[in-house]
Order: sequence, then C-alpha cells, then structure tokens
Amino acid sequence: MTRAVFLDRDGTMLEEAGYLDRLERLAFFPYTVDAVRLLNRAGFAVVVVTNQAGISRGLFEESFVAEAHRHMTARFAAGGARVDGYYYCPHHPDGAVPRFRQRCECRKPLPGLVYQAAADLSLDLAGSYMVGDRWHDLAAGQAAGTRGILVRTGYGRSSESAPQHGVVAAAVVDNLIEAVSWILRES
Ligand SMILES: [Mg+2]
Ligand SMILES: [Zn+2]
Repeated sequence: MTRAVFLDRDGTMLEEAGYLDRLERLAFFPYTVDAVRLLNRAGFAVVVVTNQAGISRGLFEESFVAEAHRHMTARFAAGGARVDGYYYCPHHPDGAVPRFRQRCECRKPLPGLVYQAAADLSLDLAGSYMVGDRWHDLAAGQAAGTRGILVRTGYGRSSESAPQHGVVAAAVVDNLIEAVSWILRES
C-alpha cells in the first residue's frame, strides 16, 4: 500500500481564482511543481481532491475541469513531476444543473473523493496527509484517517483565524512547499 499526499487544488496548488472557469486564470504558485516532484521522489502518491461546484452551478462545463487537469498534467510533466490522480466533486445541493444538483458523498468535507482514490490506488490512508487552505479539506482527510496540514495561501489565513471545532491541523504552514518540507521531515 502506498502512502499519499492529498492536495486541495484551488488556493493550495493554484492561486485562488474564485470559480476557475478558463485556462487564462489558472496560475500555479511558483513552488507547486517542485512540491509535487519532491513528493514523487519520496514515494508518495500525489492526489488532487477538489470541489468543483461551478459545474453544478452552471458556471462551466465538466469538460473544462478535465481540460484544466490536462493543462496541469502537462505543466507537471515539463517539470519532471506527476500527479497520480485528479478527483473532483461536480455537485452542489443548490446547483442550477439538475444532473449535478444533489447531496453527494464526494463534496468535501465528506471523504468520498479520498475513499475513491484510496480504492483506485491502494492507498494507506493512516500514513497519508491532506493539505488544504480550508477546514473542509482537512475535515475530509480527517474523516478518512489522514493527517491534515493547513496552508496560509488561498483562504488559509482566514481559516487559521477561525478554527473549526473538531477539525485538527497537525501543522499550519505558509504554503505548499512548506507543507511538503514538513511531511518529508515527519515521514
Ligand atoms: Mg482551496
Ligand atoms: Zn459530489
């Protein structure tokens, strides 16, 4: 079984852009490719888990999310890095698109995406980590048995100042590359 680092996408790997609805707005942090490559080299599976309620809200098509992830894959490949899986929730209980308007098990803070990835990739969840800028990221990881790290990018500073009852951060760090350093020291 492989240990994994689950990564929230928007605000953690990419600049927070509200609803990211076109490629021109997709901006990597300067350290994102390095962070993923370091995790690859250390033998962690790297798994993106992202809520994409914009699909349910009709703000962009599901195919755009696939396009964004292909774009990210190419950027990572150019830097010698690799994401092992991209998992997203297209749903929202108040969505405008009937097909995606539902209460699901995969929208963070629920752990459905983490469990799906664990089944697909044979992951050791107890030895895994979740990195995100919002408590719902860490809550999803915690529900599945991973340890959580909150980053201060994206919504991270406001998250830090508003702790959420019952959700534990093993560490709070400035950004993704610091989170990776912390994980590599711990493991
Ligand atoms: Mg985020
Ligand atoms: Zn969902």
